[in-house]
Amino acid sequence: MIRELHEKLINKEITSVQLTEQYFDVIEKNDAEIGAYLTLTKKLAMQQAQFVDEKIAKGESIDLIEGIPCAIKDNICVDGVRTTAASKILDNYIAPYDATVIRKLKEYGAVILGKTNLDEFAMGSSTENSAYKITKNPVDTSRVAGGSSGGSVAAVAAGQAVWSLGTDTGGSIRQPASFCGVVGLKPTYGRVSRSGAIAMASSLDQIGPIAKSVEDAAIILSRISGQDLLDATSAKSSDKKYEDYLTGDISGKVIGVPKEYVESLEGEIKNIFEKSLEKFRTLGAKIETISLPHSQYALPTYYIIMTSEVSSNLAKFDGIKFGMRSDDNVDSDINNENGLPKKLLETYLDTRKIGFGDEVKRRIMLGTYALSAGYYDAYYLKAQKVRALIRRDFENAFNPPAGGVDYIYCPTAPEVAFKIGEKSADPLKMYLSDIFTITANLAGVPAISFPIGAISTDGKDLPIGGQLMGKWFDEEGMLNCAHTYEINTKK
Ligand code: GLN
Repeated sequence: MIRELHEKLINKEITSVQLTEQYFDVIEKNDAEIGAYLTLTKKLAMQQAQFVDEKIAKGESIDLIEGIPCAIKDNICVDGVRTTAASKILDNYIAPYDATVIRKLKEYGAVILGKTNLDEFAMGSSTENSAYKITKNPVDTSRVAGGSSGGSVAAVAAGQAVWSLGTDTGGSIRQPASFCGVVGLKPTYGRVSRSGAIAMASSLDQIGPIAKSVEDAAIILSRISGQDLLDATSAKSSDKKYEDYLTGDISGKVIGVPKEYVESLEGEIKNIFEKSLEKFRTLGAKIETISLPHSQYALPTYYIIMTSEVSSNLAKFDGIKFGMRSDDNVDSDINNENGLPKKLLETYLDTRKIGFGDEVKRRIMLGTYALSAGYYDAYYLKAQKVRALIRRDFENAFNPPAGGVDYIYCPTAPEVAFKIGEKSADPLKMYLSDIFTITANLAGVPAISFPIGAISTDGKDLPIGGQLMGKWFDEEGMLNCAHTYEINTKK
């Protein structure tokens, strides 16, 4: 899709301003119902589009993504633009700088339409935890878009942006992509700079693209990746153009299917998944059953490590440095119940009480407990050890003494998009939605979700995603595998 639009721009069939206006028209028409955007950046978008049009008019060459409209998850900082992470605590926060990915996108001339909804601080699997609104699934608006990047994914699925950026800590790009029938890519940990993304769990977070095709995701990855001095965990890597590796040939590649993931599959999902395996076979890949023996510990391990990092990362929101303060608005709040001026600690506590939603508070409490003296060894340290074992499972699958698989494949989620409200009262049920996606974050490997079918329910075709996981820093191989499937199945 990006290539086609690029051709149209350089052949002057359409201008970037017209294209941008078209997207704003769609947003105007259907976002009251979908609820994908929190903030529109019309002025910025029009300026960016005009600039590109002037370049084209002067006969200058433009980049593939130049002049093409995109959307950004609202936990990624855009200079001068309100950035809330869908939390009341950052309600009035205007980012004072660009995240590294945004700086890069601006240099390439991307057009930014606006900031999209998410679960508060990216904590959730349905975008129901946003402090502002629920994002609905464009395929069936009685259902969730998934989460936490629900806004970014719904925007792409509903034609409100050509592509978007999300963040993925335990599945937040891939699970909603699966629910809404688009492509979502979580890069290898360290591939993309996290500088300027509001941190949830720093050892797991990655920024990645959401798009209508695997090729589009590859095009975006090429432009946002690379080492960055502002993120010490970003890895040294050569400047690859991932789109150049999409040969459409996967013959001889070995795809491992982890038995722990698929043995419980049933019904339609199982059929769709098996059909996709058959397709991979006909494309020349070899399918092998493998074992990732520590998979059963992934969810508890994630919920210890993630919440521990959350409790530490969110300590900075105390009403002093960022966003809202409990005594900002109400005069009486400046004094405590004894009529005395509030102490600093009271300001901290009140701000956090009012500013954070229930799920965020739950995770801060769990994480604080896991890190507290006396429990640290039993929970956090133990979880780190299990994380090492989970990573080793992947090492063993990819590099056993002889041979090994090239990719690991399973469904992205064990279900289709669920009904709004269906799981919000039961956190454990909600957490289980990420059962297939969190291991990639714990191990740090790249993973991509792409549509492999749909289940007809209540007259709607609810999408199912397949997930490929690759070796560390082998995005090009993994993308080519997903691309090959995609081009051979698209009608
Ligand atoms: N749904 C998962 C969670 O609630 C993952 C979130 C994410 O990837 N940001 O933690």
